Amino acid sequence: MSEPAGGHRAGSGAAIRAAAESVTDPEQRVLQRIAEIRKRRPALRETAISMSHGAGGRAGHTLTQALFAAVLGNPYLDQLGDQAVVPVAGLDGALAVTTDSFVVSPLVFPGGDIGELAVNGTVNDLAVGGAQPLYLTAAFVLEEGLDVALLRGIVESMRRAADRAGVEVVAGDTKVVPRGKADQLFITTTGVGLVRQPGRLGVHRIQAGDAVLLSGAIGDHGATVMLARGDVDLEAPGLRSDTMALWPLVAALLDADVEVHFMRDATRGGVATVLNEAAQQAGVAVAIDEEALPVHDEVRGVAEILGIDPLYIANEGKLVAVVAAADAERAVAIMRSTPEGAEATRIGEVRADPPAMVFIRTAFGGTRVVDMLVGDPLPRIC
Ligand code: MG
Repeated sequence: MSEPAGGHRAGSGAAIRAAAESVTDPEQRVLQRIAEIRKRRPALRETAISMSHGAGGRAGHTLTQALFAAVLGNPYLDQLGDQAVVPVAGLDGALAVTTDSFVVSPLVFPGGDIGELAVNGTVNDLAVGGAQPLYLTAAFVLEEGLDVALLRGIVESMRRAADRAGVEVVAGDTKVVPRGKADQLFITTTGVGLVRQPGRLGVHRIQAGDAVLLSGAIGDHGATVMLARGDVDLEAPGLRSDTMALWPLVAALLDADVEVHFMRDATRGGVATVLNEAAQQAGVAVAIDEEALPVHDEVRGVAEILGIDPLYIANEGKLVAVVAAADAERAVAIMRSTPEGAEATRIGEVRADPPAMVFIRTAFGGTRVVDMLVGDPLPRIC
């Protein structure tokens, strides 16, 4: 298979693997790989922030690695996960901590609003780390002039989402900025959860031969927000955001002792970006089948009009799970038995080579490279 143009990750992948292969413990090997990647951290060349730095794709990763992790880095942050799992003396298990800001426009859209998103998004970043979500904090940045009835509706929606997810909002903060200095409302939520079996999940557990599963159809959230914003001239009355809490689905897999190796929710940057992160950090290849990808017709329509592959469109209630091949069928059945995973399916598998690469087998029998999201085709989607 040929390397993609400018494939610096593929080119250096061999060198990193060679350096890491002398270590036999899988976790140590991944940590060493991460250390090697850090050493040749991408340079941040831009002198000003652009929208693409917030899209969840390659520019965002460069900003995170070249600036935030470079300055603030420590063994937890350097893992570049959705959540940090930190030990607490005396605790039976470990604590998971995560934080996320929400700037979606419009504030309300079919199937949800910014408040519901702010709860579910943070709950899911805990859940995919195997953490039972417990407590949230919420910080609000309000623009002068914001309608109080609108704000109340959004906060009530947060309450319902929190009740459904089994979490409580236990602390918060409010700031107001002058008219024109923010767009109505931004929300930041921080979450803490309990990991009963630390080390059970992580990129270090991904192995060649593992099956790659998806919990349901992709692109519903991103496509819904684009339509709600009026960016696409298309009628799709059945299209709704998929925003929901994924802990019940995750708990079902963990409780059934499915050999899950890794999970991540496919938000900004879509499934393509999650697969690339996993392949890059674990030093493996991921091959997926185009025909196996569940995509609703309305999403296909929006994607075609915008010229975007649904693999890059944001989801707010879907996760990618990498599981041992022997457990794949059972895992899909368990996911499908939950309301969150009714359309769950197997989309591909992990391979040893070439490291840090994602491929898709097309319906026409061809194979192409699936890169990380470049640019920001869908701004302010969450
Ligand atoms: Mg996430």
